[in-house]
Amino acid sequence: MAISPRNPFAQFFSFMCFLLPSLAEPTDKITSCLTLHNISNFTTYPNTENDSASYYKLLNFSIQNLRFAEPTVPKPIAIILPGSVEQLINTVFCSREVFLAIRVRCGGHSYEGTSSVAADGAPFVIIDMMNLNRVSVDLETETAWVEGGATLGETYHAIAKASRVHGFPAGSCPTVGAGGHIAGGGFGLLSRKYGLAADNVVDALLVDANGRLLDRQGMGEDVFWAIRGGEAKTIGTTGISATFKGFYLGPRSSALSILDHAFPDLGIIKEDCKEMSWIESIVFFSGLSNGSSVSDLRNRIAVEIARDWGEKYFLNNYDRLVKAKTIIDPSNVFSNQQGIPPVSCLSQPNSTAES
Ligand SMILES: Cc1cc2nc3c(=O)[nH]c(=O)nc-3n(C[C@H](O)[C@H](O)[C@H](O)COP(=O)(O)OP(=O)(O)OC[C@H]3O[C@@H](n4cnc5c(N)ncnc54)[C@H](O)[C@@H]3O)c2cc1C
Repeated sequence: MAISPRNPFAQFFSFMCFLLPSLAEPTDKITSCLTLHNISNFTTYPNTENDSASYYKLLNFSIQNLRFAEPTVPKPIAIILPGSVEQLINTVFCSREVFLAIRVRCGGHSYEGTSSVAADGAPFVIIDMMNLNRVSVDLETETAWVEGGATLGETYHAIAKASRVHGFPAGSCPTVGAGGHIAGGGFGLLSRKYGLAADNVVDALLVDANGRLLDRQGMGEDVFWAIRGGEAKTIGTTGISATFKGFYLGPRSSALSILDHAFPDLGIIKEDCKEMSWIESIVFFSGLSNGSSVSDLRNRIAVEIARDWGEKYFLNNYDRLVKAKTIIDPSNVFSNQQGIPPVSCLSQPNSTAES
């Protein structure tokens, strides 16, 4: 029987034919796109119990706030570990091609889970930067290039290997990622003298949503300012404690004389003070167990002690951050629940972007 062009089934069928290509699972699509671009280091949401062990091992490996490792929390379609800048660019391309939200993970220490969940329920991938963790130190210029997936421990270790008299002012926990830490400021033992980690950044390479690789000049000063933590203010915590660890930048004899003068009641004696190099002080304050060495700083699964901290977000830098975000990511490809929206999103009345 011939089908008349007005037959409703014919219309329905042709409509169905149109839809078919998009019925493929996002998992299949991202797999084929990544494979096409020679990226093999990734794992997708498991279909069988056999696959699930390696997926969950990788997913939960660095999640510090265990609330985000709960089974009820949405899981990524894929966890991808680019090993080069080219792979990183292609990973961003594939994620966009398949309309998946992107979460970037470095050390996984986000208290808010911004590297491990998509709070709005959108299907998403985690781009885990842990294989982009090279640190190269140039003593002539007294600078270091640190890839966005290195931990603070890996960074400190590389600096200490190159020199006994150089250091970097950043946080005390070795498994915190340099990527997320410096982007948020980065406060540590040397900060009173040398400022935040972000204050010491002189250049950066950034992959934008269109896959462009931009240095400081290419991204412009507003964006360069924004990726170094803006001017987020850190607030102290208050409390009462009977014992404390102090840190003095200088010889033990000077520390003793200052303490004796300023706090004679404490009765601090020589044996109460340890004199050590910068890198030894990093190990001391790291929360690693007694007897740990400098090389343990690279160990991402070392035992660590979380410490209280507080930070107020953005304050009156908000407008400038929105401006920088609009320059570098106008379509809000790199969005998350704590993220700054670009102007294009702010002007849409039904936008779900949050500030
Ligand atoms: C145990 C513990 C100790 C801490 N100690 C200190 C401290 O001493 N001083 C201090 O200042 N802070 C400290 N913090 C806070 C810590 O600096 C922040 O939580 C920081 O954002 C964690 O960075 P991360 O890369 O480990 O986390 P992630 O969860 O991987 O990342 C945090 C955020 O940064 C983004 N991000 C990470 N890498 C990149 C990248 N390469 N490119 C773009 N975006 C990226 C992620 O998408 C996410 O939104 C500590 C936190 C914990 C849990």
